[in-house]
Amino acid sequence: MRSRKTKVISILLITFIIYLQSVLLINALPVEDDAGKKLNILIINSYDPKDEWEQTVMDGFYKGLDEAKDEDLNISIELEYLDIKKRNDDAYIKTFNELLNQKYQGKKIDLVFTIDDAAFNVVRDNLFNENSVFYKKKILFTGVNQTIKLFNEEAKYMRGINQTLGVRTSNMILNIHENVDTINILLDEYTYSNELKSRIIASKSIYSRPVKVNFIQSNKIGEVEEKLRELNNPNQAIILNGVFLEKEEGKKISLSNIVDRIKKITDNPIYTTNYSYMNKGVIGGYLSNGEEIGRYSGKEAINILKLSQNIDVSVIQIPGSYVFDYEEITKYNIDPGKIPSESIIFNKPKFALLIADEDKKMLIAVGFVLLVVVSYSIYDAISKKKMAIKDKKLYELAKEREKLKTDFIVNMSHELRTPLNVILSTSKVTEMSIKNGNLSEEYLLQKLEQINKNSNRLLKLVNNLIDITKFESGIYEIKLENLNIVEVVEDVVLATVDYSTCKNIELIFDTAEEEIITAIDKDKIERMMLNLLSNAIKYTNENGSIRVYIYREKDRVYIRISDTGIGIPKDKLEEIFNRFYQVEDIMNRNEEGSGIGLCLVEEIVTIHDGVIDVKSQVGKGSTFEITLPIYKVLIERENRQISDINQAVKLEMSDVDSKYN
Ligand code: ADP
Repeated sequence: MRSRKTKVISILLITFIIYLQSVLLINALPVEDDAGKKLNILIINSYDPKDEWEQTVMDGFYKGLDEAKDEDLNISIELEYLDIKKRNDDAYIKTFNELLNQKYQGKKIDLVFTIDDAAFNVVRDNLFNENSVFYKKKILFTGVNQTIKLFNEEAKYMRGINQTLGVRTSNMILNIHENVDTINILLDEYTYSNELKSRIIASKSIYSRPVKVNFIQSNKIGEVEEKLRELNNPNQAIILNGVFLEKEEGKKISLSNIVDRIKKITDNPIYTTNYSYMNKGVIGGYLSNGEEIGRYSGKEAINILKLSQNIDVSVIQIPGSYVFDYEEITKYNIDPGKIPSESIIFNKPKFALLIADEDKKMLIAVGFVLLVVVSYSIYDAISKKKMAIKDKKLYELAKEREKLKTDFIVNMSHELRTPLNVILSTSKVTEMSIKNGNLSEEYLLQKLEQINKNSNRLLKLVNNLIDITKFESGIYEIKLENLNIVEVVEDVVLATVDYSTCKNIELIFDTAEEEIITAIDKDKIERMMLNLLSNAIKYTNENGSIRVYIYREKDRVYIRISDTGIGIPKDKLEEIFNRFYQVEDIMNRNEEGSGIGLCLVEEIVTIHDGVIDVKSQVGKGSTFEITLPIYKVLIERENRQISDINQAVKLEMSDVDSKYN
């Protein structure tokens, strides 16, 4: 309770300030004589300049005026703060009225614009007070939360915007939080809060489901905190409205600080009906947009100023909007599906989606189906492409086979005809010689030798053809014996020296081991060696050299046949092992051959579980390397026919032989 003495002093002080201001601002408002060119608006704000919501209303109001007014209309604005949060008693209101009466005495005021309930009440109370500055003035009000019912006489002068936001926010909370059975409404003790409280109590019947509404009302944050601590219940929600002061110092606390302090006490979701709390950590609420209301009011002000007669429409309802903070929605794990669709969302990242859980599931399902469809289409396209490539490859292969076949027929005809021609012509010549009686023994032997060689060539060809067919039909038998492979290879090399000597080719045999006993089919290894050696001799020019080298590494034996011959182009290296393949076609070929040899060699190596590798450089020579596993068989081949290596050499070398002998 204030003492009488303090009251008197404050009244005297205020009177002195009024006097000073009236002297200083004596020319602030035009006198009635200037009427017509200049219109004067007096704004009465219920609070102080630091209140954010009211400030946004005023900003909007100025914009609205600017947008609606004619260009030549000059508007002058005076602004007074009732500052109701600091003091709110009859004496103070009376003094405030007196101050304004003094200050604006004799000044022309065309419109009074009030912001919030307290200012509205002050002006309304003096509308018909002859001594008041507000006497029968046109009044535009906004931010009034109480239910307004204007008397007919009042309605002639007053018009404005009525806000009813509290109930909508509560129903929104009940819809979002199914578990909530109690809503704690945090209020301060100013007029606005009192009005809000009575409206909420009055509207209890229109809640969407039964709920306990609990008011925590104090101007001091400490008291609010204490009460919240007592109500530690998870099924509660909070509607924060008040602006609170520090208990001890009476100092105002920032709104974000208030939210933080409440959050430290409770995990209950916090909503608001006060726009200023948005972006300060509350989830949201049904709020009026201060700037929009202000702008609307500004335009209304121009309409009223233009009216010469009395006002007829008195109370307007401007709908608010559901406003939410995206960050808080996420923090409190709120189902976006329950948020009103027309809501304004703060802090939403550019590409974030605010979709209900069910819709999210639906979206994921649709996305999944789409993914499957797209993946399948891609897979289908790829496999079709692969098929096309495969088809193309098959076509190329078939073409290649066809060419091989044709080449083979041409080659075979050539290979068969050449020795046959030689045999036929030689026997013809011999026959003629016998008939003519000029036949010497030496001549006869020479001719018979020629017939033999060419018959061997034919025999080799037929043998190769038979063998390759056996390989293809899988009936090529392997007869393994544990033999010294070094010796087998060396014998073959020695047996072919004569043929290389004919071409003046140096043939060297070299070995790192004297003896390597392993399981081999001797005849086949001989065939393999003879084929490789006959090729080396065929494709090496005179004065070249051929080297056969054997070495061993662990359980493998390596046989390397290198020549300084014509070499094989890189792109042909893989193909030379194909049946009937020859690097040079028949028209350009210098050497005889059927293109079967290397194919047979590879088959022989393979049935010995070995591998063959070739390295070559055109013009420099080629190296064939055979790797065979070293192992022994328990049961060796029995009754092997002793083969005559010289006969085999004759046969295999018949290509070389026929040309050089
Ligand atoms: P051919 O009976 O024609 O010699 P092969 O199957 O033995 O058939 O050889 C296939 C082809 O590989 C030969 O026609 C030849 O072009 C090439 N070739 C084989 N060995 C050698 C080599 N040592 N040097 C150069 N070319 C070779």
